[in-house]
Amino acid sequence: MIMSSRGSACPRCGQATVSIGEAVPWCAACEWNLDTFDRAGRAPEFGWAWIDRGTYRLAARLTRQQYAALVDRPLESSGLGLAGVATAVASILLTVGVVALAATGVWMLFAFAFPNLAVVAGVAMIGLAVALRPRFGVVRDRRPGGRVSAGR
Ligand SMILES: [Zn+2]
Repeated sequence: MIMSSRGSACPRCGQATVSIGEAVPWCAACEWNLDTFDRAGRAPEFGWAWIDRGTYRLAARLTRQQYAALVDRPLESSGLGLAGVATAVASILLTVGVVALAATGVWMLFAFAFPNLAVVAGVAMIGLAVALRPRFGVVRDRRPGGRVSAGR
């Protein structure tokens, strides 16, 4: 990545503008022209210039807002939060559902006199519960030469 000075001055602050290759020049001091859509320097995303320009501006605006929200935040975790609590509650409910499915399947095996059709439904419920069981502790390292850090 080669950044070069174009020799032109920023109209906002007067500093020299910079550019990468043939991209639109921007100001490193005040970020003037940094969010300008450069159609020639970008691969088309949707193929229509007005949609690509709109999504580019939307992404630039959201990135600026996220940066502003995160810039003064401490590096430590801020806790579980609403999304974390909702995820934990949903996970617990799903796990309870899988356990209830397995328990109902076992109950159907022994609740009625053998043989009956409830055995087939019970085996199917137990098989589905086994297929839906939670799987813990697998974190794959995606770096080159990475390994699985914990097996199951
Ligand atoms: Zn500037």
